[in-house]
Amino acid sequence: MASIFSKIIQGDIPSYRVAENESFYAFLDINPLAKGHTLVIPKKEVDYIFDLDEDTYNGLFQFVKQVGNAIEKIIPCKRLGMVVYGLDVPHAHVHLIPLQGVGNEVNFSNPKVELSQEEFQQIADRIKSAFDNKV
Ligand code: 5GP
Repeated sequence: MASIFSKIIQGDIPSYRVAENESFYAFLDINPLAKGHTLVIPKKEVDYIFDLDEDTYNGLFQFVKQVGNAIEKIIPCKRLGMVVYGLDVPHAHVHLIPLQGVGNEVNFSNPKVELSQEEFQQIADRIKSAFDNKV
């Protein structure tokens, strides 16, 4: 059965897309630790990131960097945290989390930021514009 992230890539489940190319897809995490918290995934469905073939693995992190640069242009933050974590969704994914430098910000037990649909959409659109202008 296709992972929930494969269904997102196929458009069967909606997402707030921030970037895409033929091999990779980036979208806002629906339960964000911070505004702009983004997930970056390979379109190829592989559970464990270290099982990705060499080209996909290297391409994923090139894409992560491009997406990260776009997020940093839009979301005021000290740095972006980059995390591969979690066993919930069996589809390799990289979290990009804007950090303010206040400590303990990459704790997945922290309360999540509540955003309206309009806020999610606005953030996604702005990051997407920054991404599209850069690449
Ligand atoms: P992990 O496997 O990294 O623990 O968790 C998966 C991440 O994906 C979580 O941060 C969760 O909020 C996010 N997530 C799970 N299902 C969906 C979904 O349907 N849409 C979006 N945008 N994010 C999801």
